[in-house]
Amino acid sequence: MNRLRNELVVYAGRLRVDPWARDLGPAWLLIRDGRFEEIAPGRTRPAEWPDARPALDLGRAVVLPGLVDSHVHLTESGDGTGEDVAAARTDSERVELGVENARTALRAGITTVADCGGPPEAVFAVRARTAALPDCARTLVAAAPITTPRGHTWRFGGEARDAAAVRELAERFALAGADFIKVMASGGGTPGAPAWEPSFPEESLRVAVETAAALGRPLKVHCLSAGSMRTAVAAGVTLIEHGKFRTAGEDGGGFDPAVAHLLAEAGAVICPTLSVGHHVLAAPPDVSGDAGTLWRRRHPHDLDDFRRLVESGVRMVSGTDAGWRFTPFHALPGELRLMAGAGMTNREALAAATTGAAAALGMGDRIGRIAPGYQADFIAADADPVDDLTALDRLHAVARDGHVIR
Ligand SMILES: [Zn+2]
Repeated sequence: MNRLRNELVVYAGRLRVDPWARDLGPAWLLIRDGRFEEIAPGRTRPAEWPDARPALDLGRAVVLPGLVDSHVHLTESGDGTGEDVAAARTDSERVELGVENARTALRAGITTVADCGGPPEAVFAVRARTAALPDCARTLVAAAPITTPRGHTWRFGGEARDAAAVRELAERFALAGADFIKVMASGGGTPGAPAWEPSFPEESLRVAVETAAALGRPLKVHCLSAGSMRTAVAAGVTLIEHGKFRTAGEDGGGFDPAVAHLLAEAGAVICPTLSVGHHVLAAPPDVSGDAGTLWRRRHPHDLDDFRRLVESGVRMVSGTDAGWRFTPFHALPGELRLMAGAGMTNREALAAATTGAAAALGMGDRIGRIAPGYQADFIAADADPVDDLTALDRLHAVARDGHVIR
């Protein structure tokens, strides 16, 4: 690398600029100041490029865009720690945890993560730290999820009584630097706020949609029940987190074809976070406890409901909910396999983690693709993940903004 000019020349044995593009075969990449500047297909290095040899020879690998995890909680540990214990952490402990989690993500080829909620001061500090640390994933943050009084994740500090309070909080978080806005439209794992109960009425969600649009920020809305999705779509929401059909008693199994049809018609995008159940089930029963009992009933329903949403034509982006319950920060490749195992093609799953996720975050012109002008985020796998998603577990190289970390 010519460090003075901050240049990097990479040789790729095979280049896939995005999941939908044809395999370009061998290619040369010129990276300058953290962005892809030029792409030259073929085995021969363009004569006018600097230096004689590639600084990074990936002649035996398939090079593709870095992955995007659209739903994480960086300031949580992902080791089954309960909300009460997590609430007792200091902000500086949360920031240290967040930086380490962003480091784990990048090592797994996840070059961008979207933090879907935590204590605002802590998540803003994590973003500031990770921006300056090239061995950490790029971090986008929402501050605290906006939720009803004592609603799901109220401890993060985003309680709003009514539509006016929703607007006021969204504006405050955006002013403080939030990259996107997160709103809870149903309950969830927080005691006293069950998943099958709606939270905000349609009017409050509509105000959230209008405010986010006025602020130029994407809006992600957490929905764990059919009713909450119906209300969200009616209010104009297009990005839905989880997209589950929980019923009273929380067994799931409340799939509603009419809601699936509404979602497809509206062009809504769901981030299904299938990893949560997968990793609860993977934990030993004496560790997962009551959550394990609950999720053993619930997870098969979730996979079945996901398949029916895909069959209904609902679009998906990938996110893991890393940090929540037992979900680790390297879970995204496994999430893609869960999606592919429940009705998507490998190519669709990979697009959900690159071009699709980037577009949903309003960054479709900057990340998720290898093209001139895009941030130089890439991974090199030992086979094409379009043919075999397990190739994402065997990475030869990972780079964020042109910094190669492995
Ligand atoms: Zn979450």
